[in-house]
Amino acid sequence: MNKKQTKVNVVVRLRPALKTDDKSCVFVDGKSLEIFNHRNVNENIKYDFSAVYDINTHQQTIYQECVKPQLLHSLNGQNVSIFAYGPTGAGKTHTMLGSATDPGVIPRVINGIFHLIEEQKKTDTMEWSESVKFSYLEIYNEKVMDLLDPKDTDLPIREDTEKNILIPGLGEKEIHSFDEFKTYFGPASNNRTVAATKLNERSSRSHSILLLKIKRTQKSAPYKTLHGKIYLIDLAGSEDNRRTGNKGIRLKESGAINKSLFVLGEVVDAINCCLPRIPYRNSKLTRLLQDSIGGSCHSIVNSTVTRETVAPRIEILANKTPMIQEQDPVPAKKPRLTAKEPDKPPQMMDPAPFLSPLLR
Ligand code: ADP
Ligand code: MG
Repeated sequence: MNKKQTKVNVVVRLRPALKTDDKSCVFVDGKSLEIFNHRNVNENIKYDFSAVYDINTHQQTIYQECVKPQLLHSLNGQNVSIFAYGPTGAGKTHTMLGSATDPGVIPRVINGIFHLIEEQKKTDTMEWSESVKFSYLEIYNEKVMDLLDPKDTDLPIREDTEKNILIPGLGEKEIHSFDEFKTYFGPASNNRTVAATKLNERSSRSHSILLLKIKRTQKSAPYKTLHGKIYLIDLAGSEDNRRTGNKGIRLKESGAINKSLFVLGEVVDAINCCLPRIPYRNSKLTRLLQDSIGGSCHSIVNSTVTRETVAPRIEILANKTPMIQEQDPVPAKKPRLTAKEPDKPPQMMDPAPFLSPLLR
């Protein structure tokens, strides 16, 4: 592996149960999770991750422990990407955006960047000038749409001679404070494509992508300039369209969503398994992120899971081959996970494509 290659960290956040009797997945410790195996009632499956946060975890903890340590990289001219992955209702938007009373990653990062710039000024030996710009876009049905400056056209993704990925024509705003960010971001959020599905009234069918560009320039010779990017991504729901009863246009959307999520899984897999070829070009999402995931970039996938999450959806992201936990014939101290059997067993897509080569 290239020395500079950085792995993608995968952290899991469990959200509070929607139904109290639903216990198909439990927190084990700070790094692993046990999931009820729908295919064999005598087994639980244990997965290891970079970190696992239980249902009582505050937004502040997720930010402090997973996100904040990455921000400094962007001030040093490196790229960072943070994703929320999971089925609709798992808490992706809660984690990324949160609410006015319980802010999530996005508002905390915007605040954090300005704070960090001020902190850096106190310790830097040289004087720097900074500019912070943001763009907001979505990928919907494999089309790249500008949310900040809507144009009704599918924007092209290009690569420059230094292998930076860019979107010519994408709107951007320079911001100097969180309050200024809010004045642009509020209206832009309303442009997001959402539609009802059986699983969730306002299920998000698109990948929403906030891009922060941080440029720092030395005020005296050698006038060095550093360009850093932070991608904050609220992915579309990872649910299987056969479960949600999607038809027609929804089915087409699900296909496109699943395609980019499927390729994202392959890309994460390829990076973390040190494969020589990483299939960035196989979807718009991964093509856009080509300069911000893998290589020397710092990425975190925050996989938010409900207790209903089925194993294959997170196998894709787990660090190691899952350990099958055989159940003792005599009840052990820890009670057997008693997942409420769904009325119909969940219809999973063929999990094979989602599994890493290690898991096959
Ligand atoms: P998603 O974006 O994955 O579809 P949401 O973030 O919209 O899911 O979450 C669905 C609902 O569950 C929202 O009302 C949200 O406030 C709530 N929720 C999600 N995660 C948590 C959590 N960790 N703690 C409390 N409420 C949560
Ligand atoms: Mg959402």
